[in-house]
Amino acid sequence: MSKKEFLDAVATEIIVCTKCPLWKTRKNAVPGEGNSESPVMFIGEAPGQSEDINGKPFVGAAGKFLETMLSEISLSRNDVFICNIVKCRPPRNREPMPNEIQTCTPYLDRQIKIIKPKFIVTLGNYSTAYIFSKANLAFSGITQTRGKFFQATILDMQMTIFPTFHPAAALYSAKYKETLQHDFQLLKNKLVGDAINT
Ligand code: URA
Ligand code: SF4
Repeated sequence: MSKKEFLDAVATEIIVCTKCPLWKTRKNAVPGEGNSESPVMFIGEAPGQSEDINGKPFVGAAGKFLETMLSEISLSRNDVFICNIVKCRPPRNREPMPNEIQTCTPYLDRQIKIIKPKFIVTLGNYSTAYIFSKANLAFSGITQTRGKFFQATILDMQMTIFPTFHPAAALYSAKYKETLQHDFQLLKNKLVGDAINT
């Protein structure tokens, strides 16, 4: 089976999942989507309202800005794989709870094992904390870790983690917006330097 077929099989399980209470209030689960052969995976937090309605990741206001930043580094959302650590929308967009993250992240782990990315870009505190814990790296908050490349072993695979702010942060702060755009340029330089063609 191809990576896409394996990912589709995981997505089929996610869309009918009832393992944590978030299934009760979701309209649609959001497994993630994009290029299953991409060396780059973007991992956000949890679906918001637009994502819950559409069943697709990052299609609301934060997603528009993510697309803008991708285009600024000559990428489109179809060049990379985009998903979240939690696959169903928490009510009123509250933060995901530890039990929800714990119950849901085996799906993300399976997606990572299938894609075998060279780079994981973590968007915001929650996904960075989760990926750092998988890598046995100490996490001291997104402000301290963002904009740096971390060599790590995750699920027995060598990869590079690049944390940055969540794109939603840019919607209310020009400073976060600038920092995010700056971090995406660092990412571009690294991808070009490593001759990764997505
Ligand atoms: N915020 C996220 O973390 N993920 C989405 O898919 C949309 C908004
Ligand atoms: Fe299942 Fe994850 Fe949705 Fe909870 S958030 S119901 S674990 S897919």
